[in-house]
Amino acid sequence: SQERVFNFAAGPAILPEKVLRKAESEVYIWRDSGMSVMEMSHRGKEFLSIIEKAEGDLRKLLNIPSDYSVLFLQGGATTQFAAIPLNLCKPDDPVDYLVTGSWGDKAFKEAQKFCKANVIWSGKSDKYTKIPSFESLEQNPDAKYLHICANETIHGVEFKSYPTPKNKNGILVADMSSNFCSKPVDVSKFGLIYAGAQKNVGPSGVTIVIVRKDLIGNAQPITPVMLDYKTHADNNSLYNTPPCYGIYMCGLVFDHLLEQGGLEAVQKNNMKKAEILYNTIDGSGGFYRCPVEKSVRSLMNVPFTLERSDLEAEFIKEAAKEKMVQLKGHRSVGGMRASIYNAMPLAGVEKLVAFMKNFQARHA
Ligand code: PMP
Repeated sequence: SQERVFNFAAGPAILPEKVLRKAESEVYIWRDSGMSVMEMSHRGKEFLSIIEKAEGDLRKLLNIPSDYSVLFLQGGATTQFAAIPLNLCKPDDPVDYLVTGSWGDKAFKEAQKFCKANVIWSGKSDKYTKIPSFESLEQNPDAKYLHICANETIHGVEFKSYPTPKNKNGILVADMSSNFCSKPVDVSKFGLIYAGAQKNVGPSGVTIVIVRKDLIGNAQPITPVMLDYKTHADNNSLYNTPPCYGIYMCGLVFDHLLEQGGLEAVQKNNMKKAEILYNTIDGSGGFYRCPVEKSVRSLMNVPFTLERSDLEAEFIKEAAKEKMVQLKGHRSVGGMRASIYNAMPLAGVEKLVAFMKNFQARHA
């Protein structure tokens, strides 16, 4: 059958139906170009109009100041784990990492190869369920930047406010892969924001970097040309062949988010969805449990366990039968995880909580 499911995957993830329909209508021939976006020259006027509109709409959505560059890159957020230290510091420079989950940890481990990276706080001993109070953090005043992962996709821990970098350069760097464009963000508080597109804003293959312009142009000499932000900033993300179709899809999503009223409206919707899901978990008398401290629970990724872990496989199987898929937790933590990105409709979360209540009634 052709029926769509409610896809709770962590990424690649659900996309807005309207965006998929629009892409469907243009996949064979885009406007009056006589060809698909996949067949276009990346230097032709048609694609230039697509990438310029995508950037312009993203700038509007996040209110990105003019002294920031927006780069559409490849290699996933994982490539940025290396590109960031390669561009922002020299091999002997100290940098600070605040590690609130396994993505922050991966970023730290990669950075160690290219600079003197130091973990100033780690939530590992609490199984990554917390974010520390910012006052208690001991930051290195000589650090070139402070790195955070704004939303830990696996552990469901999300920053609700951001630490002030106490390093001399005042640079805060954030991995926003899994909460990018899910709420308004004051970009001017960051030196650099990066995100893989495949959770909230498009298909995999596009990585977005928003970087303050004065941080560009100081890459370490060994930096590969493709990892040097200057290469891409100087060439409007067209130094080599970019992921054209993915950028086009991101553009459709940005347009769609603007149509919805921008990120404040999007955030409101996300808060409502998260609230009914967390309330169901917390109101289950322990049948379901979310280990994350309440004040830092993610609006995007909701991990939970069943008191009776022997029922987990059945839960996942029955949910899938009812067209709710990809609810299995990450292989490193087990349990369940419902990713409820921007494109997950309220109806999808309502259906999930109804199922959860019914499942509990049958197994309590
Ligand atoms: N950071 C976060 C927060 C992520 O969720 C992911 C992917 N799940 C990554 C980084 C790695 O991204 P990519 O697969 O695009 O390299």
